[in-house]
Amino acid sequence: MTEQTTPRTNRTVLVLLDTPATELRSSALELLTIARGLGRVEAVTLEAPSVPTLAQLSAYGVEIVLQAELPAAVRGGDDAHLSPVVAEALAAALRLRDADAVILSATFANKEAAARLAHLTGAGLVIDATSVTESAEPGPELADAPPAGSLVAGKRVFAGSWDTSCVVRTETAVFTVRPNSIVPEPAPVAVATEVEGFAVEVSELATVARSVSREVHERAVGGRPSLAEAAVVVAGGRGTDGDFGPVEDLADALGAAVGASRDAVYEGWFDEFVGQTGVTVAPRLYIGAGISGAPHHRGGMQASQVIVAVNSDPECPLFEISDFAVVGDLADVLPQAAQVIREHKG
Ligand SMILES: Cc1cc2nc3c(=O)[nH]c(=O)nc-3n(C[C@H](O)[C@H](O)[C@H](O)COP(=O)(O)OP(=O)(O)OC[C@H]3O[C@@H](n4cnc5c(N)ncnc54)[C@H](O)[C@@H]3O)c2cc1C
Repeated sequence: MTEQTTPRTNRTVLVLLDTPATELRSSALELLTIARGLGRVEAVTLEAPSVPTLAQLSAYGVEIVLQAELPAAVRGGDDAHLSPVVAEALAAALRLRDADAVILSATFANKEAAARLAHLTGAGLVIDATSVTESAEPGPELADAPPAGSLVAGKRVFAGSWDTSCVVRTETAVFTVRPNSIVPEPAPVAVATEVEGFAVEVSELATVARSVSREVHERAVGGRPSLAEAAVVVAGGRGTDGDFGPVEDLADALGAAVGASRDAVYEGWFDEFVGQTGVTVAPRLYIGAGISGAPHHRGGMQASQVIVAVNSDPECPLFEISDFAVVGDLADVLPQAAQVIREHKG
């Protein structure tokens, strides 16, 4: 449960919606929940929100959706989603509403847009936050403490081994927040949501880079969530010996995303790997099967909230950082786990 506190100041917080034309993902609902704890929330979109999106916004207490009206040259095409354009649209919204903070989900593209936005507006920036809260009244022992009500971002660093707090000292703040940081919670009372257009002048510099082609790779096999955003990840390594069937079956029983170690991907057994040089994940539950737990792999999953490792070697290094260690053959363990989970679901 997320603790919702009453904000100290009369702040306006803007939240960028990544998928307004379809339905908001859980990561966007998390941002709305975090923003509500900080002040009055307004959503910003670069395209018209769909009816399901408006219903979600209403349930999450968002009264105003600011829809960017872009110049014809960038409207409609892929250019509208280029990070310089997104940054200029957010900067225009920030000035228009005299807002205090902007929150985006921590995708690669959004992190770039957030950095550009901070540069354009002189705002302080924290990327990959896992929480954004207000600071409490400082105790007398903290001479250099920020004034009460400052915005503070929680951030895990050094491959999840340190939890840090970053205070923003500028008047406006920009945050990107990692998916699965909190459990989204609708507002106590739903509100009526209205869409307001606002004009955005896009600078020549923002459109120097043009999007010339786009190829969509179908990843969501059987409707699985994306690896970077999934609340549950099941990953397989070389211990699968090339058979990802048990890994995928357990993932489907849990509604999880499937990932792999880099070696398993290099073997050609799967297409996306978790790790320092692959996808960084921080799900609520990470299950690694037949993965030894090399530092390069750990660097991309160590921030997961609960880690389960399945390995036939009782000395496997992944066990050192696991909450639950299962010693056994994954070909036996995973199907049994999937069966029990399905029975419980039933
Ligand atoms: C520059 C660089 C960057 C890298 N970046 C990454 C990265 O981002 N992500 C990443 O994953 N790797 C990365 N690597 C590779 C990494 O160092 C390891 O080599 C790799 O993670 C090992 O993959 P693995 O655990 O699947 O294989 P292994 O280390 O071979 O481990 C296989 C495990 O499976 C177990 N096993 C075997 N059979 C079974 C069974 N039947 N049931 C259960 N368990 C079984 C074994 O006991 C063993 O622990 C990088 C390497 C370099 C040099």
